[in-house]
Amino acid sequence: MVLILPVHPAVSEFNYPRILDNPWDHSPITVYIDNKSVPPHYSPTYYTQVQKALNYWAEGGNGKLDYTPVFAIVDSEKADIRIRWVENLQKDQGVPPKVAGVTVPLIVNGRFIRVDVMLGVGYSQWGEWVPYSDTAMLAIAKHELGHALGLNHSNDKQDIMYPSNEQINNTNPILSKYGSFLLFAVYAILAIVVFLSVSYVLGRIAK
Ligand SMILES: [Zn+2]
Repeated sequence: MVLILPVHPAVSEFNYPRILDNPWDHSPITVYIDNKSVPPHYSPTYYTQVQKALNYWAEGGNGKLDYTPVFAIVDSEKADIRIRWVENLQKDQGVPPKVAGVTVPLIVNGRFIRVDVMLGVGYSQWGEWVPYSDTAMLAIAKHELGHALGLNHSNDKQDIMYPSNEQINNTNPILSKYGSFLLFAVYAILAIVVFLSVSYVLGRIAK
């Protein structure tokens, strides 16, 4: 069975919200960081932030993992976790404004098979490009990697897994549903318009 995970905000007081407790069935977890096909506003310093974010989790992260991840950075797109930057997450992935990162896990039989992480590089405000600072990139990378290690969103505003509206917001599967709803709405409106036009034409012919 193959499914794209529906990340839902199932937050309990006692259990830290997790996508999976133990998502990876092997170690090390291989990571591919694509710094070759990068968008125009990519900064080479972002690569270092991703490395720092990997170290953060390897050294215990927010303390909410049941295991200690060991990473191996590899030069192969067949890696477990694939990280790439995109110029415009809104345009490329159809996410709402201000969403800075998207993580899409592929789950087979209760384990992650592959996780794709897409990181934004900034946003447009009043027609001006505002790039993400290295500090912002580090926070975004930590947050998205938290998902790639099985964690879900936290209610705690101090937690790296808290979905901040400003910089870090990721609920891709929910957004996908939202996206398909929008698409459905567009088709529904289109269908009504076509129906009305056809009725109008038929009405004219009948006369
Ligand atoms: Zn998130």
